[in-house]
Amino acid sequence: MKTFELHESGVRSYCRSFPVVFKQARGAELTTREGKTYIDFLAGAGTLNYGHNHPVLKQALLDYIEADGITHGLDMYSEAKETFLSTFDRLILKPRNMDYVMQFTGPTGTNAVEAALKLARKVTGRNNIISFTNGFHGCSIGALAATGNKHHRGAAGVPLTDVSRMPYANYFGDKVNTIAMMDKLLTDPSSGVDKPAAVIVEVVQGEGGLNAASAEWVRKLEKLCRKHEMLLIIDDIQAGCGRTGTFFSFEEMGIKPDMITLSKSLSGYGLPFAMVLLRKELDQWKPGEHNGTFRGNNHAFVTAAAAIEHFWKDDEFANSVKAKGKRIADGMNKIVRRYGPDSLFVKGRGMMIGISCPDGDTAAAICRHAFANGLVVETSGAHSEVVKCLCPLIISEEQIDKAMSILDKAFAAVMSDQAATQAS
Ligand SMILES: *Cc1c(COP(=O)(O)O)cnc(C)c1O
Repeated sequence: MKTFELHESGVRSYCRSFPVVFKQARGAELTTREGKTYIDFLAGAGTLNYGHNHPVLKQALLDYIEADGITHGLDMYSEAKETFLSTFDRLILKPRNMDYVMQFTGPTGTNAVEAALKLARKVTGRNNIISFTNGFHGCSIGALAATGNKHHRGAAGVPLTDVSRMPYANYFGDKVNTIAMMDKLLTDPSSGVDKPAAVIVEVVQGEGGLNAASAEWVRKLEKLCRKHEMLLIIDDIQAGCGRTGTFFSFEEMGIKPDMITLSKSLSGYGLPFAMVLLRKELDQWKPGEHNGTFRGNNHAFVTAAAAIEHFWKDDEFANSVKAKGKRIADGMNKIVRRYGPDSLFVKGRGMMIGISCPDGDTAAAICRHAFANGLVVETSGAHSEVVKCLCPLIISEEQIDKAMSILDKAFAAVMSDQAATQAS
């Protein structure tokens, strides 16, 4: 560990929870330098939906590199980009009756969010953006202003402005209609909420604790956007690319967002890659107006096109995600019934689910115990209280069952420790 502690900035984070040196990874497993293998329930925070080093994607990339394919070409036309554009249109957009143009931004999620917010402001001529409690949209200043997390916001160093925060779907429980609340605030000229350019929202809040909005809430939000002439930006960076059982997280909700941000698992291989899908009328950029050296990563174009071709040509993969999501949920519900029917509960949707614990210390203790037994798993939520399972979607049933038994043991140990402390 010495080299890292000596030379790497203190800003490093995930490595602190998993203080080993990883060397190899295949599918849903990570292996350390010493040869110890872990099941990966973090999967690059949702970047490795198709697993580590998927053989089909790897071969496509190796072939491309071997043939001296373009690695970097600014945003010039390349064959790799052409193949990606036509594959994404043919297998993702067309079958879903979606008519969007694709903007390649700098290669991280926050770049895509910045571009979407900037374009919304440019097109509408308004400054204000509505974002939600516990939302996470990235750590560069514009995206950070839309992010709720106090720890991240605290590092901004400048005022985070031009965002109005609204309560997310079930923020006040099931009985409070937060859409009606927003409607009233937006209708009242003296509410103090300036007319927004756009609303940015995650359909399932990845970092914010796996809060899942209902289809009804999302549909009402879309209506609210139309009524008040606000653009609807769905941030599908974490919940997209199959995580909830469909390519887009909102797909079965019957909405048509104005913009969609994608990154994380879009390349399919863990390569940096981000994109904004824009309704055609909104594509009012002038050439180069929003620039960047790494817009569109050719290696990522290759693996992304291969991933879409391999996983999204029919329903088989999506159906397997739904089935595995159910298997994980069943396993988690068993744990909840066994160790804390009153204090634990399952949250999330599809393969974006976790167990909410009474507090962050409990969740952290469970993750530590699980790690000691061969499972890499992290927390999420306002108080880091949710043990969040974000395994690769290609994980096998055996690996799921093994991970569930590791989690079961962790909950058994930590929850019984707590009961003992409370009794004494
Ligand atoms: C991870 C994430 C981002 C930011 O992506 P980075 O690549 O970390 O900049 C934005 N929105 C959501 C929903 C995310 O999960």
